[in-house]
Parts: sequence; C-alpha cells; structure tokens
Amino acid sequence: MNYSESMNQQQKRNPTRPVKVGSVTIGGGWPVVVQSMCASKTTNVEATVAQVRLLVEAGAEIVRIAADSQNDCSALAEVRRLCPDANLSVDLQENYRLAEDVAPLVDKIRYNPGHLYHHQPETPWQDKVRFIADVAGRNDCAIRVGVNCGSVDPDQTDKHEADPLEAMLSSAMEHCELLDRLGFVRYCVSLKDSDPSRVLEVNRRFAARRPDVPLHLGVTEAGMPPEGILKTRAALVPLLAEGIGDTIRVSLTVPAVEKHAEITAARAILEDVKAGVDAKQLEEAVRFMHPAGLNIISCPSCSRVESDAFVDLAMRVREATRYAAEHPFTIAVMGCRVNGPGETDHADLGLWCGPNSVNLKRGCELLGSFSFDEIIDRLKRELDELIARRRNVDNHLGISP
Ligand code: SF4
Repeated sequence: MNYSESMNQQQKRNPTRPVKVGSVTIGGGWPVVVQSMCASKTTNVEATVAQVRLLVEAGAEIVRIAADSQNDCSALAEVRRLCPDANLSVDLQENYRLAEDVAPLVDKIRYNPGHLYHHQPETPWQDKVRFIADVAGRNDCAIRVGVNCGSVDPDQTDKHEADPLEAMLSSAMEHCELLDRLGFVRYCVSLKDSDPSRVLEVNRRFAARRPDVPLHLGVTEAGMPPEGILKTRAALVPLLAEGIGDTIRVSLTVPAVEKHAEITAARAILEDVKAGVDAKQLEEAVRFMHPAGLNIISCPSCSRVESDAFVDLAMRVREATRYAAEHPFTIAVMGCRVNGPGETDHADLGLWCGPNSVNLKRGCELLGSFSFDEIIDRLKRELDELIARRRNVDNHLGISP
C-alpha cells in the first residue's frame, strides 16, 4: 500500500511526522501500527523466537523484547538471526548502556525516562539520552520515549505533586525537547496509565502541545480479558476517533501461548474506530468505570516476570475477590520486583511476584512476603478489613449502602 492509498483508508489523523521502524512507519498518516511484547524470558531463545513468530503471524507489526543484561543481548542476536523479517523493538530499563549492544539488532529502542536515574546516578539524564540517541542514529533505529504512571521521573513528580498527569507530560516534553535539540527526530512517545480516563486526558494534553510527535497508545496493566480489553477500548477508541494515536498495544494478562489475543483485541479496536462506534458513550463508560466497583489491574508480564505462576496468580486473585465486586477498591498484581513496588503504589492492595513468593502491601505499607499458597487467604483478610473500615466510615457519615 502506498502513502495516498493509506490516507484514503484512514480516519482523521493528527499531522504527526513519520517515524520509520523497520518495514513500517508510525505516524505521518500511515495506518495505525499494531504491536505487542514477548512474555518469554529473553534468554530462552527458543521460547522468544516462538513468541515473536506467534505475534507476527497474528498480525503484530512491531514486537518488543526486554533486554536487561549481556545475556539478554546475546540471546537477542540469536532471535534476530532466526526472525530476520520481524520489526523488533527493545525494551531498556535501568541499564541504558545496553543500547549500544542491542541497537544493531533491532529497529526501535524504548526507554523510560523514569528509569534513567537508577544506573550511574551521577551521570545526568541528558547525557544518557544523548548516548541512546547517538547509538540509535548510528544503527538506523527509532526511539520511543515511554512514560509510565508507575515510574515517573522523580524530579517531575516533586515539581507537579498536585497534578500527576502534568508530571508525566513534563517528563515527555523535556525528553522531546532534548531529542529535538540533538537533531534526533525519529522518535515517538507513549504516556501510559492503568486508568483509562487518565490515558485519555494525558494523551489529549500531549497531542495539543506536540501535535507533530507520533503517539503510541495503550492502557498499562489493563489486566485480564475481558476487562483489560474493555478498559483499553474505552480509552483508545475515543482518542483514535479524534485523530490521536499512531500505534497501539493492548496489554493483557494472558499466558504466553495466548499472547495473540493482544493483536486480535487491537485489530477489533481499529475496526470499531473505522465503523464509527460511539466514542462519547465509551468515554462516559470510562468515567463511571472504577468508582462503581472493584478494579483489578495486572501487568501483561514480560521477560522480567519472576514466576511462571504469575498469570495463574492474577486469575486466582480475580476469582477469590469476586465477592467484593461492588466495593470501590483497586488491587494491583505485578509480575516482578523491578516494577512491582512502584506500580502498585496507587492501589489499595498491591501484590508482586518474587521467584518463590508474593509480596503484599496495603497502600504504601509493606505487609510481608507470602507463599503462593498463603497469599490468597491473606489478601482476602486485608480486603475484608478494608470493606469493614469503609462500612464504619459510611455508617458514621450516615451513608446507606
Ligand atoms: S511489572 Fe515486571 S513482569 Fe510485569 S510487565 Fe512490568 S516489567 Fe514485566
């Protein structure tokens, strides 16, 4: 398909600049690109190759793979050799210097501004971005500046205490400005939150300020289907209908062998937009979604997941807490210790996996580490206490259930 054919097939789109990622282009009026991420251990080459092939066959146009170590980089070289035609993106966390090793193997590098602080804290983040941009430029790679609600740059969080969305936006804006100053314009941005209404707002605000920068849309930790699909659809359909968004991912907590569900869901969202589904109605649904009842958020898992039992744990949490469906609490279930502690901060109860146990916290208070067998009973005890406390407050205020 050429450019003008693609334009004819498109709905209204923001005039973003084109960013080439391997054989596809994000933005510039090209069709919205669908992507996903491997949930396998990157060092397990066989499983990762199988995961890339499964996603590509399902229609993923870009597949992201996490790299946190030299071993991951070596494995990635093998994955690239075995999947020469896939458009690969690498997910960097704290060790930004790995960009140098992975850039020759991939088509895009994703970094999270909030994670640039951990490794070599004495080096200014601007130098780290300069390094990544230089490596990307030399290796024909695009970049994604991936801002995530659970790991926002701490300086921005301090500056915008009263407005967490502004902290995310400012972080994205200052990285865009630096990349522009460096003369590196082959980048896109994502601003992800687990709350669909915040995804709507933060992306609208960003698009108003930087209509030229392509946006990658997604609801992070959307959870298990069908809820995870509903949340993502409720945020992405209105945005896409307004012309905001150039590439999308539906992040679902599903077993690795079912990861193609992310692509099916993403394609269905694009079909909804094309069919003119009532975006206003979906937006209304978003506004009333969470206050109405129990909200379970869970990560889609990736190479960093610390236990094979993670997806099963998320499902057990959902089953075991159905009795509390009408209570307006949030339970977050995460797969690892890298992002688990930060990304459960806004939940009433947060769980994240270690290799043999599950950590549990209530608000920001760590309650301890429990075996996979113990955790559900302990979680229910905590949930019951929250329900009882809320009832007491309601009784005190004279609010009837
Ligand atoms: S929380 Fe950890 S395991 Fe889950 S997607 Fe994020 S990095 Fe991967």
